[in-house]
Amino acid sequence: MARIHDLPKPGDPAVREPPGPRVGVAPSRPTPAEIALAPTIGVLGVQGDVSEHAAALERAGARVVWVRRPEDLEAVDGLVLPGGESTTLRRLLDYEGLVEAVRRRVGEGMPVFGTCAGAILLATEVTGAPVPHLSLVPMTVARNAYGRQRESFATDIDVTDLEGGPLHAVFIRAPVIEAVGEGVRVLARESGEIVLAESDRALVATFHPELTSDGRLHRRFVSMVRAARSA
Ligand code: GLN
Repeated sequence: MARIHDLPKPGDPAVREPPGPRVGVAPSRPTPAEIALAPTIGVLGVQGDVSEHAAALERAGARVVWVRRPEDLEAVDGLVLPGGESTTLRRLLDYEGLVEAVRRRVGEGMPVFGTCAGAILLATEVTGAPVPHLSLVPMTVARNAYGRQRESFATDIDVTDLEGGPLHAVFIRAPVIEAVGEGVRVLARESGEIVLAESDRALVATFHPELTSDGRLHRRFVSMVRAARSA
């Protein structure tokens, strides 16, 4: 397990994987057919590790736009809610009038991918918080759920339905998903706690897939967006 000061921070270049065979991992470059069908994915760009997500989505074959205002949502087929500080993100979403706009687009079928603080924003229940925020994914989330010793750490997790072996996951003052509701499938646990889950139109991770060079979760989200677009 990595120590806290070894962990990447938002703004660091993507972590390189050690050399060696990468059995079963799909090539990271999109095929020409994928480029022709590239969906447009928005990254909520008000706070947090926005550019890392944008780069990972581009590598996964999407066009990327930053979403800062409600009108920016009109052009996107999917939306990523990055990590950062959920209380700050909440305030900025409220201030920019993005709450209703995001909820409306999700109601129309737009997929969302929330990581860390982004997962907190999506939950229908946040333990200890009087009201949820976007309240779009039926699940209960607890903020800052790891004690001081494990406040930030990186470890490999096994993910259901993900080819290519375990996923290296970076946790930074991460929440845990305490329970999932109807239509939400648990994809991975770490020390027994749910850390990755999915429904037909949402992917939620309590960790930071944008801080490693393993693009499998971003590719999974791009596929979800493609499927929703052609539904
Ligand atoms: N601890 C933060 C919060 O509660 C989330 C941390 C993160 O996104 N890296 O909002």
